[in-house]
Amino acid sequence: MIQKAILETTPFSEKLNSSLTKKSISVLQVNLGYRCNLACSHCHVEASPRRTEELSPEVCEQIVKIIEQFPQIKIVDLTGGAPEMLFGFKPIVEAARKAQKQVIVRSNLTIYFEEGFEDIPEYCAQNKVRVIASLPCYLPDNVDKMRGKGVYNTSVLALQWLNRLGYGENPNLILDLVYNPPVPSSDNFSLTPNQISLEKDYKDFLKEHFNIQFNELLTITNLPIGRTKIHLQARQIYQPYLEFLEAHFNPDTVEYLMCKNELSIDYLGNIYDCDFNQMEKLPARTRTGEILTIAKLLEAKTLDIIEEIQTAPYCYGCTAGSGSSCGGSLL
Ligand code: SF4
Ligand code: SF4
Repeated sequence: MIQKAILETTPFSEKLNSSLTKKSISVLQVNLGYRCNLACSHCHVEASPRRTEELSPEVCEQIVKIIEQFPQIKIVDLTGGAPEMLFGFKPIVEAARKAQKQVIVRSNLTIYFEEGFEDIPEYCAQNKVRVIASLPCYLPDNVDKMRGKGVYNTSVLALQWLNRLGYGENPNLILDLVYNPPVPSSDNFSLTPNQISLEKDYKDFLKEHFNIQFNELLTITNLPIGRTKIHLQARQIYQPYLEFLEAHFNPDTVEYLMCKNELSIDYLGNIYDCDFNQMEKLPARTRTGEILTIAKLLEAKTLDIIEEIQTAPYCYGCTAGSGSSCGGSLL
C-alpha cells in the first residue's frame, strides 16, 4: 500500500518545486510518551493505556538544559499520549515557565478525573499553561464515537472546571479547543470546515448548553498515518484519500507550515521536524545527512543545524485547502 502511494501521488518535494527549508527554531514540541488513558479511533500516535513508552530522567534533564540554554525558544509544546500522566511533565513545565517560555499542554481533558491527576487543572492555572484541549465535535455522539463512551460528558465537566479557574476569560489563562473531523468511511471526502465559522458554532452551542467559554478553535486535518491510516487501508480508501489531499494542495500554506520553525523530540531524545514525522519514524537530518538527538544539539550548541525538512506523502494533509498544523488552520 505504501509503495502504491509513492507511485501514484506526486512526491511532495516535487510538488513544491524546491526543498522545504527550516527557519530559525522557536518552538520545541516534546512528545513525553505514548501512554494515554484513552485510545481514540483517529489517534496518529496510536496511544492507549497499554503503551509503556515515556521519557527517562536523563532525556528530561537534557530537555531542561535545551530550554535553559536557548532563548530563541519561545514556545514549549507538550504532547503525548496524555502528557500530564507521563514522566517529565511537571519538571519541563516549571523549567520552561522559569525561562519565561509560553507552555502549551495538549490535553484530552478526561485525565483530570483519573486517580492521581486531579491536581492538574489547578497546577496548569498556577503555572499559566496554555491548555489546548481535544473536543472533536461540540455534539456528544461524534465525540463518544471517536474517543470512547462518556468522554463528551467528562470533557464538559473538565471545561467547566477550567472556566471556574479563569481559563477562557483571564488573558493569562488561554483555553483552546481542537476539532478533528471524523475519519472518512467512504471516498466521499471533504476538507476540514472553515475554522472561523466552526468556532462560532462551537462557542454558541457550548455557551448555551453548558455555559462554557474558550478562546479559539483549532481545526486539524486527519493525516493518513497511525490509526487513521489503518482505518483508511481497511476500507481501501488510503490511496484515494492521499490523492484527494494532493488535489487540494494549496501552495500558499507552505510558508506557514509548523515544521519550518519547530523541533519535535521523542521520549528517547531523537529529533524530528514534526510530530507526524516522529510517528512515521522519519528523523530530521543535518545538511550532511546526520540523524540528530537532543544530546547532539547540546554538544553542537545550536538548534539551527537542519537545513532541509524531511517530507512524505502525508505532508499533503498539512497543505490541503486552508492548511493544517498543531496550531490549527494555516491561512
Ligand atoms: S488522540 Fe489524544 S487522547 Fe486520543 S488516544 Fe491519542 S493521545 Fe490519547
Ligand atoms: S507532515 Fe506537515 S508538519 Fe510534518 S513535515 Fe510534512 S508538511 Fe511539515
